[in-house]
Amino acid sequence: MAELTQPATVLSITDLTPHVRQLVPLAKTRKILFQPGQWVSLQLPVGIKPPLNRAYSIAEPPSPAGQLTLVFDRVPNGIGSSYLYGLKPGDELLLSGPYGNFLLPLSLDRELLLVSRYTGLVPIHCMLKHLAASGALPQSTLIAVGPAGDELLYHDELFALAAQHPSFRYTPVAVNGTDQEIVEAVLKLLRPLVTGRSKVMPLLSGVKGFVRPLRAYLMEAGYDRKEVKTETYD
Ligand SMILES: Cc1cc2nc3c(=O)[nH]c(=O)nc-3n(C[C@H](O)[C@H](O)[C@H](O)COP(=O)(O)OP(=O)(O)OC[C@H]3O[C@@H](n4cnc5c(N)ncnc54)[C@H](O)[C@@H]3O)c2cc1C
Repeated sequence: MAELTQPATVLSITDLTPHVRQLVPLAKTRKILFQPGQWVSLQLPVGIKPPLNRAYSIAEPPSPAGQLTLVFDRVPNGIGSSYLYGLKPGDELLLSGPYGNFLLPLSLDRELLLVSRYTGLVPIHCMLKHLAASGALPQSTLIAVGPAGDELLYHDELFALAAQHPSFRYTPVAVNGTDQEIVEAVLKLLRPLVTGRSKVMPLLSGVKGFVRPLRAYLMEAGYDRKEVKTETYD
């Protein structure tokens, strides 16, 4: 059954970094019940043939009031993200969802290995906050890449989470370069977590140029395709 497309009101807008913005819409017709890792589709009144459909992962776990927290970077010349950057509190959006299968494994019986590039961290942030709030944060390592130190999303929060939970390791990486250079920087950190050790549960999120080579590496290291969960943004 098709998900209901409904209007939503923008409650607030906050800049999280110089190039990443948070927008909080509240659906007007029906509360959106979602699982951490899922996304909503926005139908934006722009582009050659509107509406322009753009997917955004939900950044915070479900709240009693039902608002959604979306977080996005401004893509140079990106039609959708530029439109979102022009929105103000009180404006309306059309959205539907939730969608997606990038979800936490049902059984958290192995170490979680979470790897993200830039706003690819959004669904993983939602999962981590959900696990921490439910008192069930398992042994987990997060490698989060951003293009600069001041573009490391949720940096202070994740740093604090790691200080509170010895089971959670946070490894931020500020690197600006080609896809290949960024993947190489991550592989340096990934190899010791994967080789010669019992299997972990990998979740990878970001653009394809980042996610695909890392998934290929894990498969060469003996992981089955189904054991590597991925979310790709482009
Ligand atoms: C399941 C899913 C979840 C997503 N969740 C998020 C999210 O939580 N936050 C978010 O910022 N985006 C997310 N995206 C990407 C989002 O839907 C848009 O593609 C993005 O905002 C760019 O749209 P645009 O119209 O501005 O750019 P377009 O004109 O469509 O240009 C896109 C191009 O910009 C580059 N690019 C740079 N940064 C991004 C980026 N963040 N996402 C996609 N392409 C990028 C890519 O090379 C891509 O080819 C998600 C995409 C999917 C499929």
